[in-house]
Amino acid sequence: MKDRDHSTISEKFSSLLGERIKCLSCKKPKAKFNEELCLSIPLVKGELPPAEYFQVSSTSSESDNENEESTSIKTKKAKFNSSKYFNTSLDQGLTQYLNLETLDADQKLYCSTCKSQTQVSKQTELWELPEVLVVHVKRFVFSAEDMDFEKVHEEISYEKEMTIQST
Ligand SMILES: [Zn+2]
Repeated sequence: MKDRDHSTISEKFSSLLGERIKCLSCKKPKAKFNEELCLSIPLVKGELPPAEYFQVSSTSSESDNENEESTSIKTKKAKFNSSKYFNTSLDQGLTQYLNLETLDADQKLYCSTCKSQTQVSKQTELWELPEVLVVHVKRFVFSAEDMDFEKVHEEISYEKEMTIQST
């Protein structure tokens, strides 16, 4: 582990994270530590919303006139329950952030034991928490329909007090 930076900002805001990477072929684990000033937590539960979700959010904002098209868009929006697809609490987002995940086949890493690019699992651990924890919610998800990133505007709920245990 490299020397930690002891500036005032680092002391107040910096978390020490452990990252465990395991090669799924030889099962050899690797660990490294990172200092982060902000935790970027995911919003998506693993399932992307249907294409209508993105069509609604991108077209409804520019249709103020009451024509037939905008009426049908409003009906669709009312029926669609987006909370089924996204985390709505900070607690859920943090849990997902710390979950063991298997990286996609197109995110293979080089394993020095297997001497090839292999599929890996990854888990993040909180080793030291700062005085002030800054959390960033990753609100942009990729829409295959539009081939672009779209912002999710769901409200995120959170408890007034949370207990987060470091490893
Ligand atoms: Zn390996």
